[in-house]
Amino acid sequence: LEPVVPTTVPATLNTRVPLVTGESVEYANLDHAASAPCLAAVRSALDEFLPWYASVHRGAGFASQVSTKVYERTRERVLRFVDARRTDTVIFTRNTTDSLNLLARSLPRHTSVVLFDTEHHAALLPWRGTDVHRIPTPRTRLAAVSAVDSALAACPEGPRLVVLTGASNVTGELLPVREIAAVARRHGARIALDGAQLAPHRAISLRELDVDYVAFSGHKLYAPFGAGALIGRSDWLRAATPYLAGGGATKNVSEDGVVWHSGPERHEAGSPNTVGVYALGVACEQLSADWDAVTAHEEELLTRLRRGLAAVPGLSELRLFDDDGDRVGTVSLVVEGYEPGWLAAVLSAEYGIGVRDGAFCAHICTRRLTGGQQALRVSLGLGTTAEHVDRLVLALRQITARGARWTYGKPDGRWAP
Ligand code: PMP
Repeated sequence: LEPVVPTTVPATLNTRVPLVTGESVEYANLDHAASAPCLAAVRSALDEFLPWYASVHRGAGFASQVSTKVYERTRERVLRFVDARRTDTVIFTRNTTDSLNLLARSLPRHTSVVLFDTEHHAALLPWRGTDVHRIPTPRTRLAAVSAVDSALAACPEGPRLVVLTGASNVTGELLPVREIAAVARRHGARIALDGAQLAPHRAISLRELDVDYVAFSGHKLYAPFGAGALIGRSDWLRAATPYLAGGGATKNVSEDGVVWHSGPERHEAGSPNTVGVYALGVACEQLSADWDAVTAHEEELLTRLRRGLAAVPGLSELRLFDDDGDRVGTVSLVVEGYEPGWLAAVLSAEYGIGVRDGAFCAHICTRRLTGGQQALRVSLGLGTTAEHVDRLVLALRQITARGARWTYGKPDGRWAP
C-alpha cells in the first residue's frame, strides 16, 4: 500500500469539457483553492486500497487489520507532514470546518479567542459562547502583529487562543504566522492555524512556527472529499467531552455511564472514513517529497498570471495588506463594469475555464476589499499549466474588448448561458 508513483510535480486528472459552441476543450481548472483535483499518485494508491477497506479497530479479519494499520499509520504521516511535536495528537475529521468546530467545542471554560475579522467563516464562526475578540484586519502585516498583541493584552485572565489563517483564501497572501505565534507565546496564549489554504502550498512546521494546532482538508490537498485533520496539543482535547457521541469513542459503556477514550478516538465517533484518510496521508507524503518543485511551479505560473492580468483594462486585484509579502497562487479580482458571476459564466461556457465568483465564505473580507461587491477568484495549483493561465488572460482581454454582454441571462439567480 505504498504510493506507487513517485512524483515531484505530480500529474493530475485532465478532462475535456463542452463549450457553448459545441466544441470541447481541455478543462482549465483555475479553482484549486475550492478543491484540488486528485493527484495521480493518490488515485493509484486508492485503486490499490479500495478492495481492502473495512471498518477500523473492529475486526480480526484481514481487511479490517489492513484498514486499521493504514488508518493508524496515516496519523504518523500527518504528524510528519506538519513537523509536529512528539506529544501532539492527530484527530481525523471531515474537513477544516469540522476540525475548527471540534477545537471550539474542546476549549477550557472561559477561554478568550482572538482573531481577525477577515477570516474564512470556518475560522470566524465556531467560537460561539466564548469571549471572542474580533480584530479589524490592519493594512500591514506589522500592524497585524501589534493588533494581536494589544487584543491579547486586553483579554481577561484565563486561557487564550489566537486563531489565524495561514494563507488567505481570498487574496492568497500569507499571514505573519511566526511573528503572531511569538506574540501569543509572550502572553501565554495558544495559537491555532487554519491551514486549509497554506497546507497545499507550503511546508508547515508546528515546531518552527511554534503553533499549537493546525487544521486542514484533504480535498484542498489533492485528495478526495471527506477527510481532514486537526493536529496539535492533546491536553484540551483529552479533557473535552466529545461533541460527537457514539461508538468508537468509548472505552466502556454501562448502565451507570460512559467512559470515553482518552486518545484521538475520543473525537472520532462512528465508522471513520478510512479511504479518505488513507488518500489524505498519501497526498501529504507526495507533497512533502518535493516542496521546492511545488513552490517553483506555482510561483512561475503566478508571475505569468499577474503579468497577464496587469494588461486587462479595468482589472484590479484584491489585497489584504499594502506591504508585499509571500503569497500562494490565489488571486481575487474585480473588473470594472463586469459582474463577477457573469464573467465566471462566460469563462466557463466559452473558454472551458473554471473559476470561482462570490464572496468565498469570507463575506466581511470580500466586501471590505471590494467596497461592498463580490469578486472573481483564480487559484492555481499543481494541475495548472501555462496554457491555462494564458487562456484566462486572453479570455479576459477578449471579453473586455468586446464590451457587450447580452448573450447571457441570470435564470435562478445564477449567471448562465
Ligand atoms: N479555511 C479556509 C481558509 C478555506 O479556504 C476553507 C475552504 N474554502 C476552509 C477553511 C474550510 O474548508 P472545508 O470547506 O474543507 O471545511
